[in-house]
Amino acid sequence: MKKLVIASNNPGKLAEFQALLAPLGIEVVTQAQLGIKEAEEPHNTFIENALAKARYVSRESGLPTLADDSGICVDALNGAPGVFSARYSGLPPSDERNNKALLEAMKTHTNRRAHYYCVLVLLQKAGDAQPLIAEGEWHGEIAREPRGTGGFGYDPLFWLPALGKMSAELSREEKDAISHRGKAMRVMLEKLKVV
Ligand code: IMP
Repeated sequence: MKKLVIASNNPGKLAEFQALLAPLGIEVVTQAQLGIKEAEEPHNTFIENALAKARYVSRESGLPTLADDSGICVDALNGAPGVFSARYSGLPPSDERNNKALLEAMKTHTNRRAHYYCVLVLLQKAGDAQPLIAEGEWHGEIAREPRGTGGFGYDPLFWLPALGKMSAELSREEKDAISHRGKAMRVMLEKLKVV
């Protein structure tokens, strides 16, 4: 594979993907660079949304495509925001508004446990009957106030007790080494080696 399209327009995710894929020597282009519109994410499971995004973008581009669907799942909220993480506080998506909404929803909860989840799907072509699939999880807690300027999304609220830091206080390299997306990507890279 010489060229791969990333089916996302989220700048935070794109930066992480580009860093993770750099060692492979594959030319990475984004769907925005190819003028491809954002896909619908109509499903209730991460895997269905990731497959839908990958299929749509590989059909539009005619190129191998990597898509992810990810989100944060909070135990005390029965797994919410989950697949709705990006639009938890409505549209257009806003990280700041989402973080405020999550803090509000968690106001009375003492169980602060949460995890990020990421599923990656790689299609060689739109009709690929054997998509490569890789998952990753990252466990932590929801803090009581935001801190840190790194990462994106819910990172200023994602507390890592073992490190004594928020996810937004990690460098890109530190986050990639332990994050849901980093873990999923390493599984995907292993699978790609045999393709
Ligand atoms: P998607 O583009 O539908 O997969 O939306 C993913 C959403 O989940 C993002 O917009 C964030 O709100 C949240 N999210 C996923 N991964 C991360 C992460 O690594 N840090 C912070 N928020 C994340």
